[in-house]
Amino acid sequence: KGFFGRMAERINDALFMHQEINEEMMDEIEEILITSDIGMETTMNIMEELREYIKVNMITLPKNVKKAIVEIIIRLIDKGERNRLSDKTPLVILMIGINGGGKTTTIAKLGNRLKKEGKTVMFAAADTFRAAASGQLKIWGDRIGVNTVMHQEGADPSAVLFDAIQSAKARNIDVLICDTAGRLQTKKNLMDELAKMNRVIDREYPEAARETLLVLDATNGKNAVSQAEQFNEAAELSGVIITKLDGTAKGGIAITIADEFDLPIKFIGTGEGVEDLEEFNAAEFAAEVTG
Ligand code: GDP
Repeated sequence: KGFFGRMAERINDALFMHQEINEEMMDEIEEILITSDIGMETTMNIMEELREYIKVNMITLPKNVKKAIVEIIIRLIDKGERNRLSDKTPLVILMIGINGGGKTTTIAKLGNRLKKEGKTVMFAAADTFRAAASGQLKIWGDRIGVNTVMHQEGADPSAVLFDAIQSAKARNIDVLICDTAGRLQTKKNLMDELAKMNRVIDREYPEAARETLLVLDATNGKNAVSQAEQFNEAAELSGVIITKLDGTAKGGIAITIADEFDLPIKFIGTGEGVEDLEEFNAAEFAAEVTG
């Protein structure tokens, strides 16, 4: 069972202990949401809606409360089409996020997934700031059969992107996934870098659709939420990928981020393997919770 299934199980267990809906039961649910790392504000929103739902629908049995919780959470995370990666081609995806969050692995997973869908994929190793980053991305690319455009360490990320775009155009590539050194020493720094990269795309590849995806590590819990806040101010994010949702009790940040910043979660990472990337949508969530 994944994170959401485990949370649902805890909620079920709590409901089972009660014959009637009372304050004690409501407190227990609140506690489960908070200890699942759903932020305080989002938890309060969910609890308020839950009370309203119970009243309006005249629910008296605890076992019927779970359905209400699932429906409320689905409403928070369901961003409709925005939860899906753009299907347009050509597509350029800029990947941003702090070191160690799983950005490189996620690029590989995403590339692998798109390839399996029958798309042609190329990587641009524009995280030239970190010594081993480009090499690591290329190793992944070789493993899954995706070409990686790279320069030497310290090169201008926009120059890597420029070259990658020329190469992608020449080879009719459907999706170019661009790693970035997009980190947050300062907000301005990040904004400048992304602006420069976007200008390169404007000029060299105006026909390409775009996504800017933030990779966040679920095990960072509340820190990941504050990263989302800062990156969201510095960049025009089209979505978020949450990594390391396997084996963490902190997956509630996915719900918090979707609620507080109105950001769609596009995928979740559920392991270190190249296949361990799942779409994140309300239907999957519901299936996991009720299944
Ligand atoms: P980067 O520094 O952001 O590029 O991060 P990496 O892609 O190098 O990943 C850092 C570590 O996290 C590696 O050991 C990865 O195997 C691991 N990792 C990445 N995604 C996941 C995930 O979804 N689940 C788990 N358990 N580990 C992951």
